Amino acid sequence: MKQSEISLANNKRIFLSSPHMSGNELKYIEKVFESNYIAPLGEYVNKFEKSIKNYSGAENALALTCGTAAIHLALRVLGIGKDDDVLASTFTFIGSINAILYQNANPVFIDSDRETWNLSSKLLNKYLLECEKKPKALIVTHLYGQCADIEKIAEICRLHGVYLIEDAAESLGATFQGKHTGTFGDFGIYSFNGNKILTTSGGGMLVSSNKEWIEKAKFYSTQAKEPFIHYEHLEYGYNYRMSNVLAAIGVGQMEVIEERVAKKREIFEWYKEFLADCNEITFMPELPNTRGNRWLTALTFEKTDCNTIMKALDEVNVESRPLWKPMHMQKLFENSKAITNGTSEELFSKGLCVASSTTMSKDDVKMICDVIKGSLCK
Ligand SMILES: *Cc1c(COP(=O)(O)O)cnc(C)c1O
Repeated sequence: MKQSEISLANNKRIFLSSPHMSGNELKYIEKVFESNYIAPLGEYVNKFEKSIKNYSGAENALALTCGTAAIHLALRVLGIGKDDDVLASTFTFIGSINAILYQNANPVFIDSDRETWNLSSKLLNKYLLECEKKPKALIVTHLYGQCADIEKIAEICRLHGVYLIEDAAESLGATFQGKHTGTFGDFGIYSFNGNKILTTSGGGMLVSSNKEWIEKAKFYSTQAKEPFIHYEHLEYGYNYRMSNVLAAIGVGQMEVIEERVAKKREIFEWYKEFLADCNEITFMPELPNTRGNRWLTALTFEKTDCNTIMKALDEVNVESRPLWKPMHMQKLFENSKAITNGTSEELFSKGLCVASSTTMSKDDVKMICDVIKGSLCK
């Protein structure tokens, strides 16, 4: 039997990025149950925040229900509201953008560059030099776990007085000259959604070097209760705090973050090895002196239609997905401003994410690559 047939026979679908527990999570959940702190506060929320701080070097961290909530709180704390312009990567997932709409602000989309597939610092700088209305903030995504040119982007934001929020939802563990993504901006956010490199089934983290901002975000995340026993309210808030049960999963997951990054990077290297002789394939690049976490292996095909590849993979029960459809191409944003250069549109038309679960073996990757090679147009 060929590998592809075995996979079909076992009916075991290979996912883009499936949850992968360390083995300690259940033990920690049991401890939560023993303590009866089945609530959005408790020892494991503190432990999870501490482990994120220790690992990333972020000075302050706040565990939340999801990454989207973290971006929302960042915008709220920075005072971004109605009719403010907020710059953002166009080549990203909608979770990066929705919070701009929650605040009734206007997204202004910036296209990618070839070197990173992430937000182009050139376009950003050009826009900031020429725009009539100065944007209040930039939300930059480190796409698929690969670093944007973050040092340059942070410098441009600083010079123009624009707040920087790093959407590191996909890039926990990625470093730029040794410094973690999420720690360059005024705020950084991480996500622990089900398909991210680590998961708590659903969860997020807001980080910042500014302690007061994180305190303010904590206040908003717990219904903006003024410190009175009867709950006095001067402002409105949200119910965004992470559950202690889910934080226990997070603590177990953080024990294996470096292993997971190493495995994701190894999977990427296997794809490169097995597809080395396919001239029409280009892999998502990595800037020098950076270490992406290779959350999803992303590649483009010069000649073959991605749908052909996706269909062939689906037939052997392997998941794949087109690259994110750029925000400026979405109907939802047809009236939003966008500074484009054709890069994200081209990547979207030619690109795929292939299965990159850390539970995969080298044989799985070989089988997938055989299917891909068998579907390339001759
Ligand atoms: C997953 C993701 C988010 C949202 O995170 P949630 O925890 O699902 O709310 C935001 N931005 C990007 C780029 C993501 O991939």
